Amino acid sequence: MYIKFWGVRGSVPVPGKDTLFYGGNTTCVEMHTEDNQLMIIDAGTGIRLLGNELLKGKFGKGAGILHLYFTHTHWDHIQGFPFFMPAYVGQRDGNGKRVEGTCNLLNLYGASDVDARLEATLRGQMEHFYFPVDLEYLSARIAFHSIEEKEIQVGKVNVQAKKLNHPNGVLGYRFEENGKTFAFATDCEHPSDGSIDPNLRLLAQNADVLVYDAQYFPEEYNPKEFGKTGLSKIGWGHSTPIEAARVACECGVKKLILTHHDPLHADEQIRKIEEIAQKNFPNSLAAYEGLILEI
Ligand SMILES: [Zn+2]
Ligand SMILES: [Zn+2]
Repeated sequence: MYIKFWGVRGSVPVPGKDTLFYGGNTTCVEMHTEDNQLMIIDAGTGIRLLGNELLKGKFGKGAGILHLYFTHTHWDHIQGFPFFMPAYVGQRDGNGKRVEGTCNLLNLYGASDVDARLEATLRGQMEHFYFPVDLEYLSARIAFHSIEEKEIQVGKVNVQAKKLNHPNGVLGYRFEENGKTFAFATDCEHPSDGSIDPNLRLLAQNADVLVYDAQYFPEEYNPKEFGKTGLSKIGWGHSTPIEAARVACECGVKKLILTHHDPLHADEQIRKIEEIAQKNFPNSLAAYEGLILEI
C-alpha cells in the first residue's frame, strides 16, 4: 500500500508562514492499493491538490475510478469536494445524459446514521447559495454507498468501518490487504475512564500504521488537571499525543501517525506534540502534507 497525506489540519484550513512545514489543508489521504485501486479518505481542502495531480493520468481522460471514504461530514472533511477537478471530467449527450466511457467514476462511502446522509450533505454544500455548480451538474458518475459498521470487500482490500466518539458521530477505518493493515481514526476522543474505546481497539489492533487524532496538548485538553485555567476541550471530540501513544502501545501498532493538527498550532508546537508522543511511543510521527508511507 502506498499512502500519501494531502491534508493534515483539523477544523479549518490555515495557510500562512507559521504552518509551512506541516501544511494548512484539512484532511485528505490518498492510498494506492497493491491491486491498483485508488482509495481516498475524506475530502478536506487537501483533496483539491490531489485532484489536480490525478488529472495528469487517466482521470484527465474520464477513465478513472476511485473509492472515497468519508469519516464524517463536518466541514473540514468535505469542503474540498467541490474543488476536486476529476469530478468535472466527462461528456454529456444532447439530452444531458453522461456519455458512457468519458466520465470518471467516483464511489463515495459514508455512514447513513452517523450524520445526515452523505449525499444530502454533499448536495447541500453545493446548493447555489454556497457554490455555483450543483452536484447534479458534475460530469463524473457518482455512486453513493452506505458503509455502516460492517466489513466490505473492495477488490482485494478488506475495509472495516467502526463508529468512534465525536459530536454527531464519526467512522474510523481499517484497510487490510495482503496481510498489511492501515488504520485511520481522526476526530475521535478517548474515554474519560482511562480505557480504550473497544471500537478503536478493533480498528487499530496490530496495524502497520495507525493514524490518530492528536489535536491538543494534554494541558489544552484538560487545563484543570495541570492546575491551569483556560477553556477545557473535553467533549469536543478530539484527543492528545499521550492518548495516541497509549493506543499505539496497547494495540500493538507498528507506526503511529498524529493528525488533525489544531489550527492554532504553528509548526513548532506540532513538533512538540510529536515529541510528547515519541517519549511514550518512539515510532511516532506528526503527519505533514506530502508525507508518503509504504507498507
Ligand atoms: Zn475534523
Ligand atoms: Zn469533526
